[in-house]
Amino acid sequence: GRTVVAIDGPAGSGKSSVSRAAARQLGFDYQDSGAAYRALAWFVLERGIDLDDEAAVVAALADFDYGIGIDPDAYFVRVGDVDVEAAIREPRISAVVSRIARMLPVRAYLVELFRHVISSSERPGIITEGRDITTVVSPDAPVRILLTASEEARMARRSAEISGQSAQEVAKHLSSRDAQDSRVVDFMNAADGVTTIDSTDLDFDQTIQAVVGLVRR
Ligand code: C5P
Repeated sequence: GRTVVAIDGPAGSGKSSVSRAAARQLGFDYQDSGAAYRALAWFVLERGIDLDDEAAVVAALADFDYGIGIDPDAYFVRVGDVDVEAAIREPRISAVVSRIARMLPVRAYLVELFRHVISSSERPGIITEGRDITTVVSPDAPVRILLTASEEARMARRSAEISGQSAQEVAKHLSSRDAQDSRVVDFMNAADGVTTIDSTDLDFDQTIQAVVGLVRR
């Protein structure tokens, strides 16, 4: 049957790039759950909805036409027919996404969406990564991983990716987002049965091999 792989971790842990590369090696699909929260934040801003108006944000879900490419070689993120892949990575989205991610009806809706995508995968397996995949979305997945790295390593990797922001700004924004997000879900500690991969002293390829190794075990 299909192998479901759940990966959680904080911002800057390298979850997305590692998960996508591991999926490619394994011939699996790859689902980026954070992209859905980001795309919803983009959509809510686009509509001019107040990000703290939970009733309005929840009402907007009815028109939220989200599309994601789960083939790791044909990744896309769309809202309606708009390609939002680049827009959802902008700092203006990272700065506000936690405000909608803490709304429980939003989480319930997206959790169902993620499960639907997992069950619709037609490859031998699917890797889904986020904050609550090992605990809420797929607590029964046969492979569950918490991908961590020291705060210093995470900040350094992320600031190398983001241009136009100083290392201090990147660090400040990442830690405040993690602090807000961890009030809603605990992704800093491994739940029962979840294997921790600490990538602080691993390079990109070694981290991929650690994930692939756990899947093939
Ligand atoms: O993983 P990424 O940094 O793209 O996630 C963006 C935001 O989406 C997180 O800061 C968090 O607020 C939210 N998120 C979540 N649960 C997930 C994935 C992402 O709450 N499973």
